[in-house]
Amino acid sequence: MGIIVQGLSHVYMAGTPFEKKALIDVDLTVEAGSFVAILGSTGSGKSTLIQHIAGLLRPTTGSLRVFDTTVDSNTKKLAPLRRHVGVAFQYPEHQLFEETVAKDIAYGPSNQGIVGEELAARVRQGMEWVGLTETFAERSPFHLSGGQMRRVAIAGVLAMEPEVLVLDEPTAGLDPKGQRELLEKIYKLHQERSMTVILVSHSMAEAARYADVIHVMHEGRRVLSGSPVEVFSQREKLVQWGLELPPAAMLGAFLRQRLGSSVPQDLLTVEA
Ligand code: ADP
Repeated sequence: MGIIVQGLSHVYMAGTPFEKKALIDVDLTVEAGSFVAILGSTGSGKSTLIQHIAGLLRPTTGSLRVFDTTVDSNTKKLAPLRRHVGVAFQYPEHQLFEETVAKDIAYGPSNQGIVGEELAARVRQGMEWVGLTETFAERSPFHLSGGQMRRVAIAGVLAMEPEVLVLDEPTAGLDPKGQRELLEKIYKLHQERSMTVILVSHSMAEAARYADVIHVMHEGRRVLSGSPVEVFSQREKLVQWGLELPPAAMLGAFLRQRLGSSVPQDLLTVEA
C-alpha cells in the first residue's frame, strides 16, 4: 500500500498559447508510514504533484494510486482520494475563517460527519498534536501570532485523521524556533502514529533532518530519489537544479543526528 505514481504528466492550459507541461512522466512511490520530502526549486512541479496526490487535479496522462484508490485521466470523481489525504497548503492560516480556534479546527471533521463528543475530542487532540494548550480553544484565530495561526490550520487538517499528511512549505515565514517546533511535533506524530508524511520544501536542511526518502523535482521531472545521504552526495547536481545546499557543517550535524557516525566523510567536506 502507500502511494504509487506512474507515468504522471500534467499540462496546464493545454491547447492555448499558455500551455505548460508542469509534470512530465513522473514515477514515484511513497511507502505507507514513511516520511518523504519532495525538494525542488520554484516552478519544478512540486505543488502540481501534491495536488494530484490530494485529489485536486486530474492527471493529463498516467495514474496514481493512494492506498486503495486509483485515479487516471478518465476518473470522473477525485473525491475518494481526498478521504486518505490531508493537505496544508502554503500559508494555510490564510484559510482560517471561524470565530474561535476550536470551531476552525472542527470544520474539517464536522464535514466528515463527525459530531458531538467525538468532534470535541478530535479538536482537543488536534490542538495537542500541534502543541496548542486548551486556553486557545475559545480565542479568535485572528488575534494569534503567525506561528500560532499556522498551528491552528495544521491542527484542522490533523483533526480529520488523514492517513497521509501533505505539508507544502509548512515552515515558510516562521522564525527558526517556530520552524523547528512545528516540524518536531509533526515528526513525533509521524513516529507515534505511523502517519505517512509528505513534506514539500525547498529546504535541504529540513529534508536532511526528517525525511527517510527524498525525491528531487526539476522542470517537471523527478530527477533524483534516495535516502538523505544518497541525495546529498550529489552536490553538484543539486546546485545545478537550483537548490541551496546548507553549509556542510549544518548538513553534517543533521545527518549525524539521524544516522550516527555512518555519515560518509566526503559529504561533510567544506567546500572553498
Ligand atoms: P512548484 O510548486 O515547484 O513551485 P508548480 O507545480 O507550482 O511548481 O509549477 C510548475 C509549473 O507549472 C510552473 O512553471 C508554473 O508556472 C506552472 N503552473 C502552476 N500552476 C499553474 C496554473 N494553474 N496554470 C498554469 N500554469 C501553472
